[in-house]
Amino acid sequence: MSVLIYIEHWDGKFKKSSYELVSYAYAMAKQMQTNVYGLVLGNAEASEIDKLAEYGLENVICLNHNAFQVLDNQLFTDVLAQVAEKVQANVFLFAHNNTGKALSSRLAARLKAGLISGVVALPDSISPFIIRKKLFTGKATAQVKANTEKVVLTLSQNAFGVFDNKVALNKISADIQVNEALAQTKLLDTQKFTAKVLLTDAEIVVSGGRGLKGPENWGVIEELADVLGAATACTRPVSDEGWRPHHEHVGQTGKIVAPMLYVACGISGAIQHVAGISSSKYIIAINKDAEAPIFEAADYGIVGDVMQVLPELTKKIKEVKK
Ligand SMILES: Cc1cc2nc3c(=O)[nH]c(=O)nc-3n(C[C@H](O)[C@H](O)[C@H](O)COP(=O)(O)OP(=O)(O)OC[C@H]3O[C@@H](n4cnc5c(N)ncnc54)[C@H](O)[C@@H]3O)c2cc1C
Repeated sequence: MSVLIYIEHWDGKFKKSSYELVSYAYAMAKQMQTNVYGLVLGNAEASEIDKLAEYGLENVICLNHNAFQVLDNQLFTDVLAQVAEKVQANVFLFAHNNTGKALSSRLAARLKAGLISGVVALPDSISPFIIRKKLFTGKATAQVKANTEKVVLTLSQNAFGVFDNKVALNKISADIQVNEALAQTKLLDTQKFTAKVLLTDAEIVVSGGRGLKGPENWGVIEELADVLGAATACTRPVSDEGWRPHHEHVGQTGKIVAPMLYVACGISGAIQHVAGISSSKYIIAINKDAEAPIFEAADYGIVGDVMQVLPELTKKIKEVKK
């Protein structure tokens, strides 16, 4: 019996969601009195691997192969299933992001394990396995019981936090067959995104909706983002109308973000938009309509005209920063 975490890296480096997963696994292992193994596929930097021990990872299996350069769900699931057998895992942890969702569901089907996605806390009970998960894009939570021997979980971003739990790291080798014939994905081309702050990594996001009235008014969003060191984002109609590029569109059909702070400016708060921002730690909404649904999702609200509020806010933040 053990816990296996799939630890994702991007260009060899880990992001906050990876450390959060390690911190969560550390606490879960204490509760279950079992061992945790982290699996890293592809070429992660050695210094980055060592950093995982700061958050409580004691055992890591790093596998490198040419076939791991591009994420292929079938191939990666096959490797995960083999590693699971080697370490006799019965709990599997993934981040609740696109990769985690794709791999967790496939692994669950392969291992005939229960899949509980978007968990927000440690299990309430291990036997039977009962845990809390998000429902309705974060508007509710449910307590769910798994009736299977093995469980696959995805952890909601920002649900648990990152904690220092320094331990010694064992690097474990595993003899795995890489069945390249399973791979369905070929990398043809890579285009590096050159924005100052990458939207999905950003700790702060300043986002604008149709309330900005047109692309010519986006200066107020960019100035606030600049002073906060934030990424900029928008609603779907804004990108559909060509005011902003499509890679900035957040929501059910766009990017899912999980920053510490999301500033929603002139955004109505439609369910499809809120679906992409509900993992944000804090949401501030600025809208001239006090009845706008965004205020239900927001932690703080300012009722006012964005063209007046935003320059004033930027000015005040600059003063505080001086
Ligand atoms: C299948 C489907 C998928 C979708 N996916 C997405 C998605 O991924 N992301 C997404 O965003 N949308 C998505 N949508 C669209 C979504 O339903 C909403 O239409 C959209 O989010 C609304 O965008 P908005 O808030 O910018 O515009 P609006 O709904 O027009 O709201 C503008 C807001 O700005 C306020 N406002 C106006 N002027 C000012 C001012 N001067 N100062 C302050 N406030 C002002 C208004 O009070 C209003 O609340 C989807 C829709 C469908 C059907």
